[in-house]
Amino acid sequence: MTILVTGGAGYVGAHAVLALLDAGEQVVVLDDLSTGSRAAVPDGVPLVVGDVGDAALVSRTIADHRVDEIMHFAARIVVPESVADPLGYYEANTMKTRALLAASVAAGVRRLVFSSTAAVYGEPAGSTLTEDAPLVPINPYGRSKLMSEWMIADAARAHALGYVVLRYFNVAGADPKGRAGQSTPNATHLVKVACQAALGARPEVAIYGDDNPTRDGTCLRDYIQVSDLAEAHLSALRHLREGGDGAVFNCGYGRGASVHEVIEAVKRVSGVDFPVRRAERRAGDPASLVADTTRIRRVLGWSPRFADLHTIVAQALAWERSVSPDADGRTYARARIAASVN
Ligand code: UDP
Repeated sequence: MTILVTGGAGYVGAHAVLALLDAGEQVVVLDDLSTGSRAAVPDGVPLVVGDVGDAALVSRTIADHRVDEIMHFAARIVVPESVADPLGYYEANTMKTRALLAASVAAGVRRLVFSSTAAVYGEPAGSTLTEDAPLVPINPYGRSKLMSEWMIADAARAHALGYVVLRYFNVAGADPKGRAGQSTPNATHLVKVACQAALGARPEVAIYGDDNPTRDGTCLRDYIQVSDLAEAHLSALRHLREGGDGAVFNCGYGRGASVHEVIEAVKRVSGVDFPVRRAERRAGDPASLVADTTRIRRVLGWSPRFADLHTIVAQALAWERSVSPDADGRTYARARIAASVN
């Protein structure tokens, strides 16, 4: 039995591959390397370079590797990009998930774990979000993922496919053993961006909006460490193998950090007081997204190992340094500065 990991050369997918290998599972990766990298796929793991929307390729991969379980990570994930290119997002996230589902159902795949997002909740009114909160996404990214959730649930019901949908809050950090991290070129995510600023790879960090109805005016997010998230995927698979029902789980820690707090944490851990400037709010950004994590803890028995912002930041910084050509980051800064400033 092999697990097909789509997007396994990307950030979360690569950490899931490591967690699966650590658990003794057999894995094949399908990735088009649009944002992922070949180097993120460990030696010995077969990598099929191609498109998850290519039904013939998916069918062949399932048959060749005797796949009967899938973790589907491959997606586009940048909110403002989805606002600028909605049709591209519906194609990448919704249509290609449909193609993957069709191929999976035709091949008799038994279990699917799907990467979804807290963006399906939109602009929530309450403080923390249970999985039963209203689903009113406010950007094409969230809508593209919510449509996929619905498709998966419908297909699962009709075709005896076991499924778990995991709604990620904000993923950050790196493998504690240093084997993987956030390598996406031109990444826009806050922890990564702030770490790059600390290492001199960016001149500054822009804070997108400080007039939100939050404790310091900047957006609150529930930052979950990437290996803890990878572990949630294994727990989801075990749940399905034990006959668990199709289900949706929030993946977060149940507490929010503001943009200011993240920046302060990066400054403290790095010891670098990089410049920060105020900027306009970003399109499609909700003020607060914090998970209620009762269900995942209760049903999957999942519990986090790295639920401390400073630990997450220290891992992210260590990873960022390790991909830097020299120890203090200066060469790195010169090489990357033009490419990575938004
Ligand atoms: N953010 C910011 N500056 C940056 C990147 C992000 O102020 O350079 C803010 C962003 O507006 C949001 C939060 O940080 O409120 C988290 O954004 P990120 O892109 O990391 O994840 P998202 O919540 O959009 O998935």
